[in-house]
Amino acid sequence: MELWFSELHTPNVKFSIKADRQLYAGRSEFQRIDIFDSKEFGRFLTLDGYMMLTEKDEFIYHEMITHVPLCVNPDTRDVLVIGGGDGGTVRELVRYPGIRHIDLVEIDELVVEVCRKYLPQTAGCLSDKRVAIHYEDGLKFVRHAKDAYDLIIVDSTDPFGPGEGLFTKEFYGNCYKALHADGIMVNQHESPFYTQDAYAMQRAHKRIVSSFPISRVYQAHIPTYPSGHWLFGFAAKKRHPVKDVDFAHWNALGLKTRYYNTQLHAGAFALPNYVEEMLRDVEP
Ligand code: SAM
Repeated sequence: MELWFSELHTPNVKFSIKADRQLYAGRSEFQRIDIFDSKEFGRFLTLDGYMMLTEKDEFIYHEMITHVPLCVNPDTRDVLVIGGGDGGTVRELVRYPGIRHIDLVEIDELVVEVCRKYLPQTAGCLSDKRVAIHYEDGLKFVRHAKDAYDLIIVDSTDPFGPGEGLFTKEFYGNCYKALHADGIMVNQHESPFYTQDAYAMQRAHKRIVSSFPISRVYQAHIPTYPSGHWLFGFAAKKRHPVKDVDFAHWNALGLKTRYYNTQLHAGAFALPNYVEEMLRDVEP
């Protein structure tokens, strides 16, 4: 008998991975949680049947959501991560000795527990001394934070279920207030390719543009996400993500990365024409 994990990327497109076995199946107050093992992608985590990460390609997502803003502001000290209970974003952040505190706000304690047990590759740094884990809704957490962070990383699920509130205008406005005067917010920004995803990414862009003076979008290739073409949002109070960057400074840190490099950083902000058009369509 064969075991396949399948996810509908649209009502007419199905993405499947052959699994060797299922390592965990459970349900929290918020969502269904599954861990599978596979030959091609190693272990992978799904929430409510949607792919979150695989051991094989998670480095692309986590490096791009972390090193881009850290290169733009090498003086980042205090960071808020919203979502990200798998620990992959925290793993990349703790590589910077200059970071002194990370608040990780994850709504679902069971995600952290399961990832600690089955995905040590991503969750292994969650016990770093600089990390404080808060089991709360990120939407509520940011309402009470003022001028507290240099960087906010929104490492959320998609804009439905528990993640819905993390794509609202209220949330982005509160993130703006929670940041210092030269703060940066980076978020996972969905995909431009399939209609439903493209709609979600346009809606998010429209809301972020109205909350931050600088708002750009950058891209990466993530094989296990719908269409493989994935976007991230970069929003800042002052810093432009390509023009205001000291790339030599980041290179001098000597961090070893598998996907991110400073040439790719600049190139990732050069988007295909159809994506630029979609973004322009929702800009004021
Ligand atoms: N890289 C992933 C992706 O885009 O597929 C995201 C991975 S991470 C596991 C997403 C996390 O966000 C989940 O663990 C989920 O529980 C958490 N989350 C969803 N809604 C949230 C909310 N409102 N506040 C805090 N965490 C939330």
